[in-house]
Amino acid sequence: MNTPQVQTSDTHFTMPGMATAHSHAFQRALRGRTQRRATAANSFWSWRGLMYTLAETLNPDDIYAIARLAYAELAMSGVTMVGEFHYLHHDVGGQPYANRIETADACIRAALDVGIRICLIRSAYMRGGYQQDLAPAQARFSDPSVDLVLQDVAQLQTKYADNPLVSVAVSAHSVRAVPLPQIQELAAYATAHQLPFHMHVCEQRRELAEAIEEYGVTPVQLLSDHGILNERFVGVHATHLNAPEIQALGAAKAMVCLCRTTERDLGDGLPQTTAMIDAGTRFCVGIDSHVEPNAFEEIRAVELDERARTEARHTVAEAPQLLQMATEQGFIACAASDAWREDRVTLRRNAIALAGIDAQYATDGVIFSAAPQAVDTVSVAGKTIVEDGQHPDLPEIIAAYRTVLQRAKIIE
Ligand SMILES: [Zn+2]
Repeated sequence: MNTPQVQTSDTHFTMPGMATAHSHAFQRALRGRTQRRATAANSFWSWRGLMYTLAETLNPDDIYAIARLAYAELAMSGVTMVGEFHYLHHDVGGQPYANRIETADACIRAALDVGIRICLIRSAYMRGGYQQDLAPAQARFSDPSVDLVLQDVAQLQTKYADNPLVSVAVSAHSVRAVPLPQIQELAAYATAHQLPFHMHVCEQRRELAEAIEEYGVTPVQLLSDHGILNERFVGVHATHLNAPEIQALGAAKAMVCLCRTTERDLGDGLPQTTAMIDAGTRFCVGIDSHVEPNAFEEIRAVELDERARTEARHTVAEAPQLLQMATEQGFIACAASDAWREDRVTLRRNAIALAGIDAQYATDGVIFSAAPQAVDTVSVAGKTIVEDGQHPDLPEIIAAYRTVLQRAKIIE
């Protein structure tokens, strides 16, 4: 298969495994808990305060249990590769664990126990913001030097070099959380080692104002001015860009990872997707905060949200291009370019979401209308990990997850 396709048999549609290239697995524990006004999660920034409260309570075993549930849910939604944008590194208070990559190991173990691939995107986080100290929760994310960050990246690369299901990428959390000289060091390492380089960019307008205050320019313009944008760059969100920034991303053939279900949930705004794709930007997608349990919705939202913004139909991409973003492009962002060819998802044609869809409309039907409940089997590198729509360990995974939430006093 040279390009990702949906194939049709009498009983099933078969597609490659999907990649979700931006995940914060621990945020899965927030699901259902941030939707009332009374929780004070009224803006992105107050939501973030609740997320920080959660981040302050979790130990590595908790992170493992939450990630295992999050990844099992992804697997049952047809995802075979997760890009874990990992910034919860250290113990409460900021003290590194004896094994510095303990929490990264917990995420990787969770993915491997579920049976999916993982790209551990080791994220650097160095300050609370321009002229802002670290908040208490941010101490768990933060490192005093790039050397320590890159030491962890190298350790991860060495430790998992022989595991074909594990890849590693480098990240600076954001222009807000990492000063420019350190962003440049991290990007240079990614280039030297041919790794993807991920950053959150321009999710919220406040970030733009802060970058202008510090540097006199908006975040993507700053990155462009300093040569950070290239084919390895994966900008997450890219919601609020001006025209020169859109041109700069496109000219660099950079990738943008849209996370529409989380961006909707957080009130981030609508990206100018058509202008970005016209400029030459490539796209992948991410489940991000795991607020929405549906990888199919994540990919069709790239097109559907642009329809809502522009009041037009068929704006960004038709189903074959969206399928390519969900598979081939997502795997590239996860440092595993060709692995999508080895993974398979089958969907039941008699599932209610897909009933009556002919072979000639297979790709359109799957991309625009499939639900996780239509997934029958999922295989990763030839090994079946989901059968009859279920992960075999699901009851135990849910029980362990509930135990963690109770212990962390997230549920009664
Ligand atoms: Zn994120």
